Amino acid sequence: MSEERRRCTRCILPDTYPNVDFDQNGVCRVCREFDEKYADVDWEARRRKLEKILDRYRGKGIKWDCMVPFSGGKDSTYTLWLLKNRYGMTPLAFNFDNGFAHPDALDVVKYTARKLGVDLVTYFPDRELLYRVYRRALEATGEFCSACVVLIPTAIFREADAHGIRLICAGFSDILEAPPPETSYMDRVMFKNIMKGHVPLDELRWDYFFPSWKRMFKVKQISVPNYIRWDLPRIYETLNRELDYGKDMSDIRYDCLGTPHSSYLFRCRTGFGKYEYLYANMVRAGVIDRDEALRIVREREPREEPEGFREFVSRLGADPDEIMRNMGEKSVFNFRGRNRRLRRLAMKLREMLP
Ligand SMILES: [Zn+2]
Repeated sequence: MSEERRRCTRCILPDTYPNVDFDQNGVCRVCREFDEKYADVDWEARRRKLEKILDRYRGKGIKWDCMVPFSGGKDSTYTLWLLKNRYGMTPLAFNFDNGFAHPDALDVVKYTARKLGVDLVTYFPDRELLYRVYRRALEATGEFCSACVVLIPTAIFREADAHGIRLICAGFSDILEAPPPETSYMDRVMFKNIMKGHVPLDELRWDYFFPSWKRMFKVKQISVPNYIRWDLPRIYETLNRELDYGKDMSDIRYDCLGTPHSSYLFRCRTGFGKYEYLYANMVRAGVIDRDEALRIVREREPREEPEGFREFVSRLGADPDEIMRNMGEKSVFNFRGRNRRLRRLAMKLREMLP
């Protein structure tokens, strides 16, 4: 598509981003908010805080000190490497297979776990139930990724709890990966409201919902990139050196095979692309060059129906034409989520957990 939009001169967000405005230098609202939020981050203090947390859990598990959700991608691989080699933890790697992993992804996951010398568990949930959940999410909200946002953390939590693990260390970076709050949000109350009447809740209860507040509060969850400056070039260099993949790690693909389709759906719904905001985040955080980001986005962002889109949607049991109808009106925000104040309070309390 030849369409060229006005973009932020610092990151690459287009003028189709919700409530975006550009200052006299052409810098967008999101960049300005980012500067305000992260200008004074004391990374040294955050690193010390991480060490303190890890000190509390090291050697305390029955067999493992912590669980690391492990996709095989750079962030979770580096998180595992850091915890094992720099911080002397005994992690259990947990891999969730949603049925859309790249065929090579599981081999990479196993290879990496073996190289790192960590135990690995993989969870393949029942496809039939999973596809019904994706289908309902897609039909109701125009996206299916929202289902994974609830399913995966819940499965991780349940697995940790079952092994008596009291600390979950994710490799999710809020700065680099958090989706735009203007278009994407999900919590389990919202998820429940979306599924209600379509997927029987007692079918979902055991597998996909946190057992209870009481049990949930027994497990602390942190995201390591929020405590350490996530320097991607250095991360790639470390992993290429330490793990000996036989090719550059940045050339190995682990992306969910649903990504081109979810990006396309996202663009149809919001007017801008998933890769656009992800790469805008990276440029803003200084881990990638703006021109390089624009080049990747032009190459990877699907602007027309991606190959295999209709087959993908049909495989979930949904009708592609029906899905695309009134796409602009579909949104997760049409469903009621958790009370905001309660949510903030719960997050604060969990943050304070020892
Ligand atoms: Zn910007």
